[in-house]
Amino acid sequence: MNSALDILQHRFGYSAFRAPQEEIINTVITGDDALVIMPTGGGKSLCYQIPALARPGVAIVVSPLIALMQNQVDALAQLGISAAFLNSSISHQEAMAVEQGLREGHIDLLYVAPERFNTPSFAALLEQLHIALFAVDEAHCVSQWGHDFRADYLHLAELMNRFPEVPRIALTATADENTREEIVARLQLREQRHFICGFDRSNIQYRIEQKQDGKRQLLQFLEKEYPQAAGVVYCLSRKKVEDIAEFLQRQGFKALPYHAGLGQSMRQEHQDRFLREENLIIVATIAFGMGIDKPDVRFVAHLDLPKSVEAYYQETGRAGRDGADATAWMIYGLQDVIKLRQMAEGSNGSEQFKRQERHRLDAMLGLCELTSCRRQTLLAYFGEELPEPCGNCDNCITPPETWDASEAAQKALSTVYRSGQRFGVNHLIDILLGKETEKIRQFSHQSLSTYGIGKELNATQWRNVFRQLVAQGLLNVDVSAFGGLRLSESCRAVLQGKQALFLRKEALRSKSGKQKSAK
Ligand code: ADP
Ligand code: ZN
Repeated sequence: MNSALDILQHRFGYSAFRAPQEEIINTVITGDDALVIMPTGGGKSLCYQIPALARPGVAIVVSPLIALMQNQVDALAQLGISAAFLNSSISHQEAMAVEQGLREGHIDLLYVAPERFNTPSFAALLEQLHIALFAVDEAHCVSQWGHDFRADYLHLAELMNRFPEVPRIALTATADENTREEIVARLQLREQRHFICGFDRSNIQYRIEQKQDGKRQLLQFLEKEYPQAAGVVYCLSRKKVEDIAEFLQRQGFKALPYHAGLGQSMRQEHQDRFLREENLIIVATIAFGMGIDKPDVRFVAHLDLPKSVEAYYQETGRAGRDGADATAWMIYGLQDVIKLRQMAEGSNGSEQFKRQERHRLDAMLGLCELTSCRRQTLLAYFGEELPEPCGNCDNCITPPETWDASEAAQKALSTVYRSGQRFGVNHLIDILLGKETEKIRQFSHQSLSTYGIGKELNATQWRNVFRQLVAQGLLNVDVSAFGGLRLSESCRAVLQGKQALFLRKEALRSKSGKQKSAK
């Protein structure tokens, strides 16, 4: 009688499972552990809510999103399902009432914040209950290398281990292979099955362009494609968020800033307005978005490069939840590449941490410089295969031209070498172009053999060459503020002419908006 399908139809009022849900639910009902990687909006909640009803006892649901617990509990109450939550927002009396209900066996789902797991009183409470399952939501928070790390997640297993017979289900929308392994290890999942599903967001068009004048490019994008639409513009710094929000307002757009420096009430107000009003643009740092569910976001624009492919996927995934066409638009340039490389090198984490950061950044830069289908590479990153190019990304729509940059690369690399591997990109370009500057004279760089040998390209084109050399790891960036460039081990073959190098030809937009081609 109480089969999973039965509960889906009679308690939740849905007619059928989405592809992977049933198998996941049955895994947990039979008492096995599961790791569920499913994009936001995919339907993760049912994966633990249905087993919670099918198995005797109360399901303990760990979530860092305290602000959403009330909503979740209310939504379940609407369906006649008894759920409660324990977190710092409720009074002592309310907590006592919840505990009473738990002991009496009236509650099917209990949402808790992760820090509860560290308190002896919570452990004592659990000892008195019959537990149906442990569900760990936003399980990527266990990853010390990830952007949402919560120390409390490291300790969840200790308490769960006191209940070895209780199944565990870990759920998240973002996890590359490293993070997946970390989740399994930290939460001590046993006999677990992995479910990785449905990452393709086919209605989102991915586009990544070269940064020239960020503001003007954003304005052009909005005026041409989304003059009236809800969207999110991501920037790296608070200052830039403020600046861009003001700029868009001056240009007649309804735009509001959102970042951690704004104060709780203003943030809440801006978020509420974004959810409620039409055609509102939120300009935000990555502080914005976790747990936001607005179906008709038409575009996500990145003015700065995310730190990883996961972050990019998660942030762009806020567009087009309703299934209608949406655009993920991003611009990036040499400075972004240098800044992120420096951050990865200069962070004071362990060697392992730095290696992981570098690896993540390489994958992100690889996606940017890619000349083939972006979606295929994006999905491959999450372990999903797309057999054919998607037809709905910039590289599919207008395949980028490449050019043989071997000779240019050799000139650039030997200029780095001959000037002592400590100068930044602007000075290196001055040398290649044979400019007469104070600094050139100061270091007698007009006597270098590479002085003036690069006049066949202009400064912008050289910046593209350098950007791609840094992105591909042929040049390393100094951690110092000056961003001096050094040769990397892997550049040798190119430098010696043993390996050809093909780079993207960039499509430059001229001021008139016409496309012209530049190397
Ligand atoms: P996630 O936690 O993965 O972001 P949710 O669990 O919040 O996603 O589900 C997203 C939406 O999809 C919800 O509105 C939910 O009710 C709906 N949904 C989930 N599973 C089904 C299903 N089998 N049939 C119809 N709607 C579903
Ligand atoms: Zn494509």
